[in-house]
Amino acid sequence: MDFQLPEDLRGVQATIREFMLGRVEARAHDIEATNRIPPELMAEAAALGLFGLSIPEEYGGVGLGMLGRCAAYEALGHGHMGFGGVISAHASIGTSGLVKLGTDEQKARFLPRMAAGECIAGFAITEPSSGSDAANIRTKAEKRGDVYVLNGTKHYISNAPIAGLLTVIAVTDASRGTKGMSAFLVEPQGTPGVSIGKIDEKMGQKGALSAEVIFDDAEVPAANLLGPEHLGYREALGILTSGRVGIAARSTGAMQRLLDLSVAHAKTREQFGQPIAAFQAVQFMLAEMEIAVQTSRVLWQKVAWMVDHGEDVRRMASVAKYHATEMLSQVADKAVQVAGGMGYMKDSPVERFYRDQRLLRIYEGTSEIQKVIIAGDLLR
Ligand SMILES: Cc1cc2nc3c(=O)[nH]c(=O)nc-3n(C[C@H](O)[C@H](O)[C@H](O)COP(=O)(O)OP(=O)(O)OC[C@H]3O[C@@H](n4cnc5c(N)ncnc54)[C@H](O)[C@@H]3O)c2cc1C
Repeated sequence: MDFQLPEDLRGVQATIREFMLGRVEARAHDIEATNRIPPELMAEAAALGLFGLSIPEEYGGVGLGMLGRCAAYEALGHGHMGFGGVISAHASIGTSGLVKLGTDEQKARFLPRMAAGECIAGFAITEPSSGSDAANIRTKAEKRGDVYVLNGTKHYISNAPIAGLLTVIAVTDASRGTKGMSAFLVEPQGTPGVSIGKIDEKMGQKGALSAEVIFDDAEVPAANLLGPEHLGYREALGILTSGRVGIAARSTGAMQRLLDLSVAHAKTREQFGQPIAAFQAVQFMLAEMEIAVQTSRVLWQKVAWMVDHGEDVRRMASVAKYHATEMLSQVADKAVQVAGGMGYMKDSPVERFYRDQRLLRIYEGTSEIQKVIIAGDLLR
């Protein structure tokens, strides 16, 4: 066993961390104020290859395996979580279906522009009446000649307002139950009948825009069917499994940042004539944060390794996502406590992380759903 990340991946991490802590954090106030990512940051991210993390080199991407991608996601976690959210929704769930199931023609059509950051991607399964119960979606795709006609509404879809491509899951044969679902590559900006609803007003993760996607007799070319017709729920959800490992890695990066901020603050803030780091109550909070970082890191590394070795990670991806996101909530809470009143102030990154991290226990499967998956697998 070797617990050291390869040197090239440590280099990737250092570059992304520097970008997040420098360029992105410098614009955090703008992102919070405008709820938009400045275009120059998107361009810099593209130049760094962040939009092509999961795209093979032959299509202009960086072509990292899961270990490399998650190492990048951990580094991404150090900075503004809304910015990180845009990149990760694109590079993980937005891209992985196409890379895994796409034909050569489909890949050649979309992946080079996606890798260059010219076509932002997203993934749409959730509907107003089916969130955790994603097997119950109602959006229908009916084959008529050489098109599929889509009708239905997706909501809370990350990146939808800026997306050039969405992987959309719809029912193609209701009589087959969960085996009657298919995946489609939908270009929301150029397909008549597809519209994007009002941008969601969220608690945090500013700049990471999500919205409804409405299909009203939207005609999607049959050539945009991704994978086989009636791909099935399990396969469609497989796209999310890889995303879960990535979220565990991002959470670990966020925890590391919060721990670093807390250690620095504890050493410099003085009360009762000494640094607050001298108080055991504060030391214990720091120690608990470190335990959370270390256990979460080992877990995502193990699951990423399993993916790269072709192992089934359904259970373990849920273990890693559950652990890291639950730990992150505890770490964010402790970081506010160590910072005291300052941690409650808008100009503190700790306040921002406290709001932003909450989403990670909800999307790509809530914590409860991760436990349903883990228990279901144990009892199978
Ligand atoms: C900002 C944001 C971005 C998102 N981005 C995307 C995206 O890009 N693409 C996409 O498809 N979706 C996206 N989602 C949707 C997200 O995946 C769902 O919100 C999530 O799966 C939960 O569904 P729900 O909100 O309908 O909650 P519900 O399913 O209604 O759950 C409510 C509560 O009930 C619990 N619960 C439900 N069923 C069970 C059960 N069987 N056992 C125990 N507890 C249960 C849940 O854990 C939760 O605590 C996003 C959501 C948000 C908020």
